[in-house]
Amino acid sequence: MRIIHNLDEMTETARGWLAGGSVGFVPTMGFLHQGHKTLVQAAHQECEISVASIFVNPVQFEESEDLIRYPRDLSRDLQLLSTTSVDVVFVPRAEEIYPAGFSTFVMPTSSPWAVQSAKGAGSWIYARGVATIITKLFQLVRPDVAYFGQKNAQQIAIVRQVVRDLNIDVGLRILPTVRESDGLALGSRNHFLTQLERRAARVLYRALLAGKALVDGNVRNPAEIEKAMIDLVVTEPVVNLDYVKVCHSDTLSAVDTILPGTMFMIAAHIGKVHFIDNIIWRGGTNWLL
Ligand code: AMP
Repeated sequence: MRIIHNLDEMTETARGWLAGGSVGFVPTMGFLHQGHKTLVQAAHQECEISVASIFVNPVQFEESEDLIRYPRDLSRDLQLLSTTSVDVVFVPRAEEIYPAGFSTFVMPTSSPWAVQSAKGAGSWIYARGVATIITKLFQLVRPDVAYFGQKNAQQIAIVRQVVRDLNIDVGLRILPTVRESDGLALGSRNHFLTQLERRAARVLYRALLAGKALVDGNVRNPAEIEKAMIDLVVTEPVVNLDYVKVCHSDTLSAVDTILPGTMFMIAAHIGKVHFIDNIIWRGGTNWLL
């Protein structure tokens, strides 16, 4: 497992990969868990060369407090990655990614992903931050395939848009969300929860399953499903719901009726932790949970 911090070294290394076979790439913000590990293992199994990156991207945070509080533990991350047979771990420094004078951002201008947070502000900052960092990482690592978890639906929509609009030659592989036994999606910030909050957090996945139950019972009206999901979440006073959305899984635009490919999204704050999750109906009894 080779660790690269320096951008020039990453560029040189990627240049040498042309003859080495396909490159699978897993971008992360670190504080890794089993969800990340599953992506890295898939990259290792499906490609000749596997690369993971660890970079807490400062320009995608709407609140500087969230950036400061984002958990970091590089030695623990490297320990976890050493159990995966990943070939390269790219850990760039923020001063090199965004040096003084940096001024070129990638900005998606239409906004199906602008599912507003409760605060209503700033999701363009997230879209611009994700679009910019993924473009830079793709330039530096030059992957053939990039791996993402289904959990971050907005991130996936942004990356799809960037790849399409800027003709970036990379395939996207989306893998299912890895969950705790009670359904809570694994997340780097989950450990910030108190016991009480952790118990309450179960309601998020239960709300998604409540939506599923209605679809399975032939309900096709998005408003009815959104209401049922919201009614369930508000039974947990410590859970601050940001939104529930019933939308198209690729474009994230709202739908008039439930069709195969419809996604059910939920976002909430519990304490200081922001949670997102989703499930997708693929038709019949086929769900991506
Ligand atoms: P992050 O470090 O949060 O930026 O996430 C890096 C990648 O890991 C993204 O593609 C996420 O979707 C993915 N990921 C995060 N949590 C999970 C999870 N519970 N299951 C599957 N993938 C995940």
